[in-house]
Amino acid sequence: MDLSTLSQQLNMSVNELRSQIKAAGFRVSLKARKIENSLAKEIIQKLSGKPAPAAAAIPPLTKIQIPPFLTVKEFSDKLRQPVTAVIKKLIQNGVMATINEEIDAETAAIIAAEFGVEAVVDRQEEEHARLGLGYVSDYLAKEDPKQLQPRPPIVAVMGHVDHGKTTLLDTIRKTNVVATEAGEITQHIGAYQVEHQGKLITFLDTPGHEAFAAMRARGANVTDLIVLVVAADDSVKPQTVEVINRAKLTKTPLIVALNKIDKPEANPERVKGDLANFGVLVEDWGGKVPLVPISAKKGQGIDKLLEIILLTAEVEELRANPMGLTLGAVIDSHLSRGQGSVASVLVQNGTLKLGDPVVVGSTFGKIRAMEDATGKKLKLALPATPVRIAGLSEVPEVGGILKVTGTAEEAKLEAQALQKQDRAKRLQSRLVIKAEPNKKELNVILRADVQGSLEVLSDVLTRLGSEDVKINIVNQGVGEINESDIALAENTQSIILGFHARATAAAVRLSKQKNVTIDLYEIIYELVEDLTQALLAMMPLLVMQTVLGRAKIKAIFRTEKDTMIIGGEVLEGKVVDKKKFKIFRNRELLDEGKVEELQQNKVEVGEVAQGREFGVKVRSRTSIQIGDVLEIYDELVKKKELAKP
Ligand code: GDP
Repeated sequence: MDLSTLSQQLNMSVNELRSQIKAAGFRVSLKARKIENSLAKEIIQKLSGKPAPAAAAIPPLTKIQIPPFLTVKEFSDKLRQPVTAVIKKLIQNGVMATINEEIDAETAAIIAAEFGVEAVVDRQEEEHARLGLGYVSDYLAKEDPKQLQPRPPIVAVMGHVDHGKTTLLDTIRKTNVVATEAGEITQHIGAYQVEHQGKLITFLDTPGHEAFAAMRARGANVTDLIVLVVAADDSVKPQTVEVINRAKLTKTPLIVALNKIDKPEANPERVKGDLANFGVLVEDWGGKVPLVPISAKKGQGIDKLLEIILLTAEVEELRANPMGLTLGAVIDSHLSRGQGSVASVLVQNGTLKLGDPVVVGSTFGKIRAMEDATGKKLKLALPATPVRIAGLSEVPEVGGILKVTGTAEEAKLEAQALQKQDRAKRLQSRLVIKAEPNKKELNVILRADVQGSLEVLSDVLTRLGSEDVKINIVNQGVGEINESDIALAENTQSIILGFHARATAAAVRLSKQKNVTIDLYEIIYELVEDLTQALLAMMPLLVMQTVLGRAKIKAIFRTEKDTMIIGGEVLEGKVVDKKKFKIFRNRELLDEGKVEELQQNKVEVGEVAQGREFGVKVRSRTSIQIGDVLEIYDELVKKKELAKP
């Protein structure tokens, strides 16, 4: 508390207060402008003869509710603490945030605890934020079951390389495409639909496992069934096992397509046996997993496979509400010269319509154009329909969830809120670097739109830092962030910074897979600010010791192995519970110890002031003797500062 505030409360001048404090026996430095709140309370009690008023006026906070993200200002208001005090605590915890910056609930909870307040995350708000990001299944679970209608199955074709996935997808596409005036499927949009016996089936036609992993990582598991392609002449291979494990993990039903049965070397019984060894028991081995012998190349067994897919799907009771909230998963995205950012979306619920305002993560827009895999223009798309859309502000991430909002304004606001969250999360994730105190350099790869910005940036960044930590520019260039940047970043443990630069969709995908950070900036100041945080987080922590008080030992009550119960008197300052102390004998430092339990007149207390006697249980390896002096101290962790660029 400020001495001036205290003097006002006590209705006296600061000088008068100083002399009264001294007269009353409190030890406060002549130059002190601030004193500890606990000491202020004692002074108020003593000088006014009344208990401290603050305690009685407003009941102290014990619990607050917070949203998943909130600004420092909002947080301070909720805590009923001055913003400066909150920022100070944040800095002490290694979080550099300004008044309008957002922090996440986890950080807020830690800070709140330091103010003695429990912060509880508002689950409803959290739920809302989660829905904004995706989690279609959570949403569907809440839909009115009466509104739900059957929808086509979404099938992924997976298996070991060269076992015939691409051939199978091509054969199905060519022979079973839904007849339209546009004709056959001409473009890869990540998925296509075929018709069999009057029913639709949606196939994901990116056979790579990467896309699947990217989507699952975002919580958008769109696959209802997996067709596991196993070549009859090659049997079970590492990626086959990977698919089996993945199906088990995600509880996705499997159908085995036993491919290449036209080959003379084909050995179906061996495949069945090998599958059984990995826990996949096919039907004619007494199990439940259907197996269809096919030749993707010759077109044999394809009808049967489609039939089995439909039968399996029926058992799964796949449903969606075409009238409900429209949600979809982004299965592919890129920047097109003519159309701007385009995305392939698999509608998962509701009906996607031309002109709908939409948000995908931090990207928003309006459905300007919509077409299917045959290039046919669509006005609306029902659940399980794959469509290619144009009209988004940026290239959305694969695995992102598209959501239709009521108005364009809503879409924009929601996207911006997420942009803010992303930023706050980024700040948060940077703090992870703190765990690597031995790191001296932050490796970065720089990409900018023009040579001029690149030069300015590299100049600013090389000057950032200090003797302890600095930025090392591994590579820099003009243009889009591409896959080779990611590879370099992975090899050199760098983060990639883009300034007015974009990342290609392939680079984004690879970065997820390789766990490489890409940060895109539009404003130099923000980039410098974020890097400063990162460097600060890497800097070694400085531990500052502040002496709280000294006490003389007057009695030894009990001595055990590492603990002692002793009595003493506070010579100056105070003795505080749970703090560390140094033991002095004849002015010589002997050892250190820690206060375990503090008592005054046999009552447990938090601290004991100067002039008072106390009993204390301490932990110490050295046996303390009568006449020893204990110096109680506090440890404050302090961050070093960086030189200004
Ligand atoms: P992917 O790596 O799993 O996508 O496999 P591909 O579809 O590229 O097929 C790998 C090779 O196997 C190609 O040379 C295909 O022509 C061949 N292939 C695929 N299916 C069959 C089949 O049913 N019979 C025969 N004989 N060859 C096949």
